Amino acid sequence: MTKLTQRIQRIQASPTLAITAKAKALKALGVDVIGFGAGEPDFDTPEHIKKAAIDSLKSGKTKYTPVGGVNELKDAIIEKLKRDNQLEYSREQILTSCGGKHSLYNIAQVLFESGDEVIIPAPYWVSYPDQVLLNDAKPVIVNTQEKNLFKITPEELSQAITPKTKAFILNSPSNPTGTAYTREELEALANILVDKQILCISDEIYEKIVYDGFEFCSMASLNNDIKNLTIIVNGASKVYSMTGWRMGFTAGPKEIIAAMSKLQGQVTSNISTPTQWACVEAYNGSQDFLKEWVAAFCERRNYIVERLNAIAGIQCFKPQGAFYVFPNISSYLGKTFQNKKLETDLDFCDFLLDEAKVACVAGSGFGAPGFMRLSYATSMENIQKGIDRIEEVLSKIDE
Ligand SMILES: *Cc1c(COP(=O)(O)O)cnc(C)c1O
Repeated sequence: MTKLTQRIQRIQASPTLAITAKAKALKALGVDVIGFGAGEPDFDTPEHIKKAAIDSLKSGKTKYTPVGGVNELKDAIIEKLKRDNQLEYSREQILTSCGGKHSLYNIAQVLFESGDEVIIPAPYWVSYPDQVLLNDAKPVIVNTQEKNLFKITPEELSQAITPKTKAFILNSPSNPTGTAYTREELEALANILVDKQILCISDEIYEKIVYDGFEFCSMASLNNDIKNLTIIVNGASKVYSMTGWRMGFTAGPKEIIAAMSKLQGQVTSNISTPTQWACVEAYNGSQDFLKEWVAAFCERRNYIVERLNAIAGIQCFKPQGAFYVFPNISSYLGKTFQNKKLETDLDFCDFLLDEAKVACVAGSGFGAPGFMRLSYATSMENIQKGIDRIEEVLSKIDE
């Protein structure tokens, strides 16, 4: 048997991809599965963005570019950061990579090593702990409380800090809970990070998907001290419905971006050239379509939260952003269905897939057993049908 590295044996395959694969396999067999697993918008990439990619191909923009991206793209990102976040960055402070996931991986590679601790609030996005582990560092998971709307408190952050703490990973709005931090809440966390000189990795990929007038605030925009410690991760995947195009970016201190750029130059080089030109248009072009998308997401959120909360034994927090809900299903654990005991949230999600033909992702994968994640990036019709089915099978569960 080939001996694989310790590093690769330390990590797990993405659980969100696993349920999506299982649901797809059932669909292929002709089963009518309702999927709440997908972590991507159901809208098509806007036409003007697609056209920019086609035009770039037609005009021969098909070759290597500088590792971090063409200047036009860096400038479009710099303008975006100014316009949306009141932040000033120079070209040396921007790097584009193959999706936000790749941006985060580059960060982990240049910052983390054996002996380092990285604070991650749970529920967390599945890749954070594994990327830390891949780089021989230790993820320090801090369980947030549902009653605190799944947000880490300043006390919880302070308590998790040790002399080994290298960084804190913040994700607002969050995947999987949809929770989002206000400016005041960020300020309280920033004070601690600045005081202890701990880096902040701020994953802002859902920035534009917020509801009811919630005002998104970027950690780096609070003041210069925290800006100098923050690496922003953002990208086109969620906001422009461009998950397959692969563009994420980082904005941060020059020396960190330079190190990441050196690494990327030896690993992948630049991201796809037509994707870069599509993203120039995404950032510089009209943002009007977003209003419609966010309104559609908001309507679905209101509906799904109301329906879930109307089911006995389910408690669902109403999130401020992203396109996920994260209901507490723990009251069903330990109960039985046809003599089979539902011990864990994984059993519960398997039960929903088998009996209701509805795919949800178990909370355990996000470090939150007793919960599950539903993505409402799917049509109202699907949401209606899916929740009807969940309601129906849950009524058959024995005490
Ligand atoms: C989707 C997502 C990303 C980025 O995904 P890419 O497809 O690699 O751009 C990053 N962070 C979170 C929390 C996400 O949900």
